[in-house]
Amino acid sequence: MFGERTRTVVVVGAQWGDEGKGKLVDVLAERADWVVRYQGGANAGHTVHVGDEQIVLHQIPSGILHPGVRCAIGNGVVLDPDTLFDEIDELVKDGVDVEGRLYVSDRAHLVLPYHKLLDAENPASKAIGTTGRGIGPAYEDKVARRGVRVLDLRHPARVRELVESGVHRANAELQSFGSKVRVEVDDVMALLVRLAQRLLPLAEDVGLLIHRARGAGAAVLLEGAQGSLLDVDHGTYPFVTSSNTTSGGAAVGAGIAPTTIDAVLGVVKAYTTRVGNGPLPTELDEAMAERMRKLGNEYGATTGRPRRCGWFDAVVVRYAARVNGLTGLAVTKLDVLDTFDRVALCTGYTFNGELHTEFPGDVAALEELEPRYEWLDGWQQSTADARRLEDLPHAARLYLDRMRALVETPITYVSVGTRRDQIIGLD
Ligand code: GDP
Repeated sequence: MFGERTRTVVVVGAQWGDEGKGKLVDVLAERADWVVRYQGGANAGHTVHVGDEQIVLHQIPSGILHPGVRCAIGNGVVLDPDTLFDEIDELVKDGVDVEGRLYVSDRAHLVLPYHKLLDAENPASKAIGTTGRGIGPAYEDKVARRGVRVLDLRHPARVRELVESGVHRANAELQSFGSKVRVEVDDVMALLVRLAQRLLPLAEDVGLLIHRARGAGAAVLLEGAQGSLLDVDHGTYPFVTSSNTTSGGAAVGAGIAPTTIDAVLGVVKAYTTRVGNGPLPTELDEAMAERMRKLGNEYGATTGRPRRCGWFDAVVVRYAARVNGLTGLAVTKLDVLDTFDRVALCTGYTFNGELHTEFPGDVAALEELEPRYEWLDGWQQSTADARRLEDLPHAARLYLDRMRALVETPITYVSVGTRRDQIIGLD
């Protein structure tokens, strides 16, 4: 992926998240100097398998598992300082050296205890199916220009003022939900005073650090969380996350210019999953979904929730290719389809008797349409040991060829198992 001319690469999910971005970032980080998270918060959950160990990272870029790679949490992230340090402590316990190579943007907004409470107690959050980590309420405060940023922790009086009005507002809202829970200013302040001592030494102008590193020739990987169809502008609104997950958000959320991005890799599963509520046009009936879920271990890394499963939707991924400017696709979990006697690709939707091949903006339309499928023969043999394209069964190659043609994007990686080495590189 990285080359002489390709120095800054974005990795985005091109479906509804959980595409296996963690594994791709982990593989690409081997040749990166910097890995940067640019949006979302502790609602993301990347699972990386190193040897027999399974490591789940929520906020820290998975590049941290590669010695010498510098990692940063960009200004576009809403940072939960409490769980950040749990994650750091866990990594240190596993023998990962974090010291001196993890930075946090001083402009990043903080997720505070009252954001989590509001998320957990708000019936509207439950209807969307949020993870309850306070991400939405923290972004709401950011956009309403009343958030607490990392750099505010350098000014205790300013923080107290912000927290006092935040707590006041949160308690009024909790009351309006009919909740009995309340927040205390002193509890929030005590937490912040304790965490500031550890957080402030990590605080930097991350955009400037990346700019300088790029100037010195560094390879920079920008790591997205969630997926393109959960983007607050381009996803299945209102069943979306509260940030821009797509590549435009990468520039804004890392603090670098859009023109510095050289390549955008879209990660997709060989099928489709979605966690939480909202439309999923290719959703399978429960028996087939259960089979795919078991084979693919489709349970959320953050919440353990079973994921909804469906066939690969080429309309969705072609749309994601367009809004992200994807330069390549990484197809993961091809091995999960190994036992199916036939496999399907969704090529369009019929709605009111008409065929649509572009993704609609209105979720109500998505609920009513009928997916149109193209069926291909399954390969019914293991792909887990394939390391070159030639190692794949003929039917699997035909399936990937059709996917590439329908999505109009070249495939640069195919992943055939959870381990780092179970990958075919095609670039
Ligand atoms: P992310 O948030 O996009 O990183 O995705 P998750 O970490 O939630 O889910 C990816 C899961 O799929 C992890 O458990 C990975 O180990 C696993 N995974 C990634 N690539 C493959 C693959 O090619 N085959 C199989 N069977 N599992 C994979």
